[in-house]
Amino acid sequence: MTEYVTTTNSGAPVASDEHSQSVGADGVIPLHDHYLVEKLAQFNREKVPERIVHAKGGGAFGVLEITDDVSAYTRAALFQPGTTTETLARFSTVAGEQGSPDTWRDPRGFALKFYTTEGNYDLVGNNTPVFFIRDGIKFPDFIHSQKRLPGSHLRNNDMQWDFWSLSPETAHQVTWLMGDRGLPASWRHMDGFGSHTYQWINAAGERFWVKYHFKTNQGIEILSQEAANTIAGEDADFHIRDLGEAIDRGDFPSWTLSVQIMPYAEAQTYRFNPFDLTKVWPHADYPLHRVGTLTLNRNPANYFAEIEQATFAPSNFVPGIAASPDKMLLARIFSYADAHRYRVGTNHAQLPVNAPHAAEVHSYSKDGAARYAYNPAAVPVYAPNSVGGPAASAAAAADSAGWQNDGELQRTAATLHAEDDDFGQAGTLVREVLDDAARERLANNIAGHVGQVTVPEIKARALQYWRNVDQSLGERVEALLAAGDIDPDVAPPNASGLNREGEADVALTV
Ligand code: NDP
Repeated sequence: MTEYVTTTNSGAPVASDEHSQSVGADGVIPLHDHYLVEKLAQFNREKVPERIVHAKGGGAFGVLEITDDVSAYTRAALFQPGTTTETLARFSTVAGEQGSPDTWRDPRGFALKFYTTEGNYDLVGNNTPVFFIRDGIKFPDFIHSQKRLPGSHLRNNDMQWDFWSLSPETAHQVTWLMGDRGLPASWRHMDGFGSHTYQWINAAGERFWVKYHFKTNQGIEILSQEAANTIAGEDADFHIRDLGEAIDRGDFPSWTLSVQIMPYAEAQTYRFNPFDLTKVWPHADYPLHRVGTLTLNRNPANYFAEIEQATFAPSNFVPGIAASPDKMLLARIFSYADAHRYRVGTNHAQLPVNAPHAAEVHSYSKDGAARYAYNPAAVPVYAPNSVGGPAASAAAAADSAGWQNDGELQRTAATLHAEDDDFGQAGTLVREVLDDAARERLANNIAGHVGQVTVPEIKARALQYWRNVDQSLGERVEALLAAGDIDPDVAPPNASGLNREGEADVALTV
């Protein structure tokens, strides 16, 4: 027996959760049954708009522990030796809607919110070190091509390959996606990357370029396409369930955080544009420096409040960390915070999951829908003021972070670096990282996907795209298509996940 009486949202006792008021037992229901009205009206408003991208996801809380000393490179409090910082992680697919299967072939979001003593620091990355495009102006077009046709509401391989084959900078990410790691066995068994290049600033004001790598301590495990297809039909929430159950049984997943560090001045002359999101920095050029360990150890108590309403924004920097001239990053710095203002509301940063946990807010923002926190009446609502309100401080913000630029206002992609072609690093992945079996799986996946293109011109362009990545790979894809020799179980069905009979294979370990 409960000790509580149900109440309205305003706290008044409620007479019944079974019966509406009516005029006589079978009569009309009066509008002034305000509890019925409140219940239905609240129900109608239970959802906020889903994210345009990364709509399907899950997450957990944990801690970042700094085991190594990178204080020579950044003054950020969260990265100082021995520091521990409460962290929220959210993992997701990109193109699928909220109820879509977790095991569709897609990059996975790897978003982190660090509740640091200097304010929240968000690192909104993926499980891949690169991305499809290098300029945010292409992002809406790219996502439109991966989503649904306006007429039929179906996803469409013609659209996907039309965009990809006309955008050669996508080659590296598409190669990665069509390869084994495009289907992680679980979120626990994949790596995370900050992907962008960021700036670190040390206590002396010296600047460095960095890339973040979170290597899974569970080992990389992947799904075969058949297993992913089967799981998509049987348990669309496979990855959410896996993470939640692992944490519930005390099997806390962890990742080793390392960074690649480039001295500030080397960016100009490096063989690749280090700010191009379609490129990695080869490890031989910039090795990994270990920083610490991220461990997830607490499931959210309420999915909607703590995961759906979580708002990660690349604009959330802390002193000692700043942006770089990566054009995708610069676009995301606007668009994420803007999406949150629209999706969750202008005061989204006041929700418990988004507010700082280890720092205080002293801002001049006021009012707006769903305002919860506010300054005492004595604190002025404007700056500057002469009555002791908060004062901005360039020293506290370490706001010296910047970079030299090329000067002229223009619309162009930088081509100042020796090896800035679009297909080179994709070819390296195919030839130097994958083995024969992985290359064959890659060719099959590509053939399965390109095989569903119906427009001959787009198909021909897609084949040339793969020959540009690697001549042998392109020829193998063409041969598979010509022979019609594509294993239908292996062929990814335009990332929509076939529902096949049979048990899912166990995850493959690579
Ligand atoms: P390295 O040989 O030093 O590193 C190869 C990288 O590829 C490792 O990070 C490895 O991860 C990863 N890898 C292994 N198998 C796959 C796969 N099936 N799909 C995607 N990545 C895989 O080489 P370089 O640093 O010179 O890079 C060579 C190529 O490797 C790049 O062009 C890029 O495509 C890819 N790569 C590079 C990364 C980087 O930051 N330099 C990061 C990830 C991929 P692991 O150690 O877990 O096996």
